[in-house]
Amino acid sequence: MASPKRENPSHFIRHRIDEDLKTHKYEGRVVTRFPPEPNGYLHIGHAKSICLNFGLAAEYGGTCHLRFDDTNPIKEELEYIESIKADVRWLGFDWGKHLYFASDYFDQLYAYAVQLIKAGMAYVDSLSTAEIRRYRGTLTSPGINSPYRDRSVEENLALFERMRAGEFDEGTHVLRAKIDMASPNLNMRDPVMYRIMKMPHHRTGHTWCIYPMYDFAHGLSDSIERITHSICTLEFEDHRPLYDWFLDALHVYHPTQIEFARLNLTYTVMSKRKLLKLVEQGHVSGWDDPRMPTISGFRRRGYTPEAIRNFCERIGVAKRDSMVDVALLEHCLREDLNKRAPRVMAVLKPLRLVIENYPEGRVEMLDAENNPEDPTAGTRKVPFSRVLYIEQDDFMEDPPKKFFRLAPGREVRLKHAYYVTCTGVKKDEETGRILEVRCTYDPDTRGGWSDDGRKVRGTLHWVSAAHALKAEIRLYDHLFIKENPEETETDQDFRANLNPRSLEVLFPCRVEPGLAEAAPGSRYQFLRQGYFCVDPVDSSKDRLVFNRTATLRDTWAKIQQAGRQGFRP
Ligand code: ATP
Ligand code: MG
Repeated sequence: MASPKRENPSHFIRHRIDEDLKTHKYEGRVVTRFPPEPNGYLHIGHAKSICLNFGLAAEYGGTCHLRFDDTNPIKEELEYIESIKADVRWLGFDWGKHLYFASDYFDQLYAYAVQLIKAGMAYVDSLSTAEIRRYRGTLTSPGINSPYRDRSVEENLALFERMRAGEFDEGTHVLRAKIDMASPNLNMRDPVMYRIMKMPHHRTGHTWCIYPMYDFAHGLSDSIERITHSICTLEFEDHRPLYDWFLDALHVYHPTQIEFARLNLTYTVMSKRKLLKLVEQGHVSGWDDPRMPTISGFRRRGYTPEAIRNFCERIGVAKRDSMVDVALLEHCLREDLNKRAPRVMAVLKPLRLVIENYPEGRVEMLDAENNPEDPTAGTRKVPFSRVLYIEQDDFMEDPPKKFFRLAPGREVRLKHAYYVTCTGVKKDEETGRILEVRCTYDPDTRGGWSDDGRKVRGTLHWVSAAHALKAEIRLYDHLFIKENPEETETDQDFRANLNPRSLEVLFPCRVEPGLAEAAPGSRYQFLRQGYFCVDPVDSSKDRLVFNRTATLRDTWAKIQQAGRQGFRP
């Protein structure tokens, strides 16, 4: 195999593969896999693993399998399998014909178990679950052998066969590997290989009432698929001796397991179990809630697969656990969207602006640039008329010195349009609330430029009141208030750190009329407001809904800049 074309910095996993290619350990093959348990939706941590496995396979001209480790019929659902496939595809990866299920290997795994029994390396244990736990010992004390540990091969074979035939109740017997109850590694203290579960399986139906444990099935599935490099997260380092033990005991093909540090992100929890809790308890609207760190949440929020892949490449792989700043992920997103998101104008909190010297009933179609970062993006027409909406925040009746937006007597530029000067306000007589801002425009500033070289400090976005569309806009903030959501008082869990203000819904906002045609999921930069996308779930022809993907404030770039200048912000 030719050595790969490499644009990216190298890391220890690449070095291991290079080494194995050099020594011809796997006849030049590179076969990786992404092996999810179908018990939840994928999150951004999984994206790291997907990018790594599929990325390495592509880089070395190898293959990457998508394998569902579906050994536990209780927690697994078809919905999860479908969502996982959709997410991997959306991220831009293709497993081709290499879609597998650990459940496809149930016959083979059963045969392996029988082989181990025959070799005297596995036995049927009849201790209860609680007793097994008690006999197991602790990190500081060795375990105790089960009284059933020395059953004869014949008795074990017969019992295992009867377990399979459904003769026993759940919890009465298990099959265990006969290794070492005194091992300092708890995984090696005669781990359970099979348990009785009278439960149909989504793929094998009622064929089985015993199911292999993850630790028995996982490494052997890699072996069956002739995976060359089994890349997994650090917590599996302690399981490696067990996987090796099974492979050696069975004299089968042996993949190389390589562990790397899992991704942790600030302001984020990243375990399927915890994410499931958030969904089940209604803290979020579902797995694809735009505040969720799931791939489907990011997709709905308006993230691009390119931004996520770029992020995964930039964080690299390491041997030690660490916490990545979520600002880096947002930075990758902004970098991508800045290049390709068309600019439009949307007013989130509308305030009427009436141009007193602009003729009633007149409408001008003004040219507006679609994307200053993209010379091919062209222009569009935006209607301008006597009554507009501007942002409430862009007007102050009694402004401080540094306020460069609109105020009585001040002149500002309306983007793509004209200069306007504020002449006064109209208020609700009872409440004193500002109902509208009055102004005049200078007809000689069409397009937003003045011939006489007169400068204005502020440029505002706006929409024409008669033409704009009503829209609902959802603003999101971090789902958790703490950088590390696990940091809680002793009697609380991560849910105590949920951010009560992680969602703010604005209605009615006003957006450019051209957005009537916006496709679900399409992304825009709302000038001065950030990146937004059409919510692919709730938005429709009669009800425009936008999600704020990100603000324009790039805290990551700021941190980097400050770092270069030698101080922390
Ligand atoms: P969780 O701990 O979130 O429930 P998991 O490890 O149980 O996830 P699996 O479906 O077993 O989820 O994971 C599939 C693959 O994704 C595994 O190889 C696992 O190591 C990897 N993976 C899971 N979480 C992360 C993460 N945070 N960073 C990198 N890789 C991860
Ligand atoms: Mg797991």
